[in-house]
Amino acid sequence: PTALVWFRRDLRVADQPTFLAAGQGSRALALFVLDRRLLAPSGAARLWFLYGCLRDLDRSLGGRLLVVEGDPTEVVPQVAHQVGADDVHVAADFGPYGRLRDRGVEQALAEQGRSLVRTGSPYAVAPGRVRTADGGRYRVFTPFRQAWADHGWRPPASTDADHLDWIDPASVAVEAVPVPAPPAVTADLPEPGEAAARERWQQFLGAQLDGYATGRNRPDQPGTSRMSVYLKYGCVHPRTLLADLADSTSEGAQAFRTELAWRDFYADVLDQRPDSARRNYDRAYDALATDSGPEAHRLFAAWREGRTGFPVVDAGMRQLRAEGWMHNRVRMITASFLVKDLHLPWWWGARHFMRLLVDGDLASNQHGWQWVAGTGTDAAPFFRVFNPVLQGERFDPQGDYVRTYVPELADVAGAAVHKPWALPGGPPAGYPSPVVDHKHERAVALDRYEAVREVR
Ligand code: FAD
Repeated sequence: PTALVWFRRDLRVADQPTFLAAGQGSRALALFVLDRRLLAPSGAARLWFLYGCLRDLDRSLGGRLLVVEGDPTEVVPQVAHQVGADDVHVAADFGPYGRLRDRGVEQALAEQGRSLVRTGSPYAVAPGRVRTADGGRYRVFTPFRQAWADHGWRPPASTDADHLDWIDPASVAVEAVPVPAPPAVTADLPEPGEAAARERWQQFLGAQLDGYATGRNRPDQPGTSRMSVYLKYGCVHPRTLLADLADSTSEGAQAFRTELAWRDFYADVLDQRPDSARRNYDRAYDALATDSGPEAHRLFAAWREGRTGFPVVDAGMRQLRAEGWMHNRVRMITASFLVKDLHLPWWWGARHFMRLLVDGDLASNQHGWQWVAGTGTDAAPFFRVFNPVLQGERFDPQGDYVRTYVPELADVAGAAVHKPWALPGGPPAGYPSPVVDHKHERAVALDRYEAVREVR
């Protein structure tokens, strides 16, 4: 038999269930499609990382990855026809666009008498699998987390590049393109690819897992795994990580499993409600008053550029640009600031994050934003308004995080860095005064949220 293996968000050869489905030793063509619809919203940092992962995958396959450009509903059936594939193998995609695309490809293949065979997904437990006792879906995380653990996941699939007999793409009559050259980036980005993912994971297990339960909240310390970018493109599967933690009941391992459960939960929620990628999950909040107009756009620009005058917010927004990544605690602080101090729609901020984050993932991002905005499932209570100064003092107690990303404040010692306006002589030259008064904006936000609750 001949198989076409179409890679999407699973750019690896280890623990690759599509290889098992294709049948050991089968002749197979490895394919990646450069799809403008998916690439267009990605910033340079994410493309840089993606193209690096593709180059890594191509190397693992002995230079036998076929890359083509175009609409998958056209090019996948074309390639399948040219190579004489029996079936096309993929890991299932559950995003709103991915689902539609796959349905289109499936129909086009069916007209040729071929099938799209879905094996596995980017998740430990695929959306739709974790169900309530009466077969319903979960809208609240804590019971989902329990049911998710009870459901369990498969052990990693034992595969490598030699599992299949790869066809030389040069022998297939289709218009191939090289893996695109990575765009120029100024950001300091992680090494792409499967080996880099494994290496990073081993470092985390050795140095950070023990302290993860508390260390994960400290942006001034290297306490988290930084696996999100590798999970985004499937350089490693979450099942592989969970298997490595299987024997551990330590606090760190428990906390890490819970974070992976959040990833699966948000994918499940997006699968239940694809519209929640663009609109409030809780539609009552469509009535929430938000600001627009020139002043709102001026504040939005200050937020994007990390020039709000609130040091921890500015450090986060600059880390995002500098590294294509931001610490989770600071994602919450900067998001809360946009929504509750600047009164801007959460999707303005979500779009900016999606463009710059290398790990930018529709489910985790849109629902992370809605959690902060209080408009999502399982959201933070509406009255929780992060105080950017107290958050900074608590989670960056010595101010090291701020000084790393905000050079204007590099000479301010200790926690005083969180209140530059209170320094003798005011904020250092070049650093802005606060763009808003937090106490006042907090009261405005509470009034606006209260107004929505009253009409409910
Ligand atoms: P670790 O603390 O080491 O966590 C391990 C893994 O668990 C992560 O790699 C990630 O896959 C998963 N995880 C951790 N926290 C969450 C969470 N809250 N929701 C879902 N999964 C989680 N994560 C993304 O992967 N892509 C996004 O686009 C994204 N946008 C976000 C936007 C906002 C406003 C917020 C508040 C959170 C967002 N997150 C997103 C979740 C979280 O911030 C990142 O997953 C985390 O910071 C990645 O760093 P890490 O791998 O070192 O995390």
